[in-house]
Amino acid sequence: MNLVLLGPPGAGKGTQAKRLVERFGLAHVSTGDILRAAIQSGSALGLEAKSYMDRGALVPDDLVVGIIRDRIRADDCRGGFVLDGFPRTVPQAEALERMLASAGTRLDAAVAFDVSDQVVIDRNTQRRSCPTCGATYHLVNAPPKRDGVCDRDGTPLVQRPDDRPEQIRQRMAEYRAKTAPLKEFYRGHGILREVDGSPAPDEVGRLLVELLSR
Ligand code: AMP
Repeated sequence: MNLVLLGPPGAGKGTQAKRLVERFGLAHVSTGDILRAAIQSGSALGLEAKSYMDRGALVPDDLVVGIIRDRIRADDCRGGFVLDGFPRTVPQAEALERMLASAGTRLDAAVAFDVSDQVVIDRNTQRRSCPTCGATYHLVNAPPKRDGVCDRDGTPLVQRPDDRPEQIRQRMAEYRAKTAPLKEFYRGHGILREVDGSPAPDEVGRLLVELLSR
């Protein structure tokens, strides 16, 4: 099963991707995680990506398409993958189609998470993440056991630089202008599936499994 998860920032793509990985043994491919790791390592890719990410803008297509081209060739993607945060533009989606076609495979579904602007703002402002293991928390709905530190490894939690109000607004604008049109793109390909992303993670997970089992 090869899947794409679509949705505005904070829609729950990362949370649900991790669940799908556990349940179906898929490889998790998150361009956001790959770019943040590149920033941490101080690589040339990271340096270039940082200037876009810090202000909530999309990184240029050629950079992310290059990342995905390498990543989906890796062995762990052979048994299926879930793309979390890619594609985010129509040219990225077209590039993905060409890559998969030349590898003799294709997407099975593009799942769009529907959430209101208010949910997006709330989830992003309340999100804290662990810089060591990538675990995410919501300060009110899913807080860590001990204030400010990761349950798994005790690392102090941080707020992503792009989870500040101005950056959230920018990311929402980017989503509307460049990513939302992908729904029509995948509807036209007959593989769009929509799920209500506003309930708590367990309920969204249940809806998602039900939808994918159909
Ligand atoms: P995410 O972790 O998916 O919310 O991504 C965080 C940031 O990484 C985005 O706001 C973009 O700046 C950048 N990014 C991640 N994936 C992509 C993509 N497919 N295309 C362009 N920029 C991306």
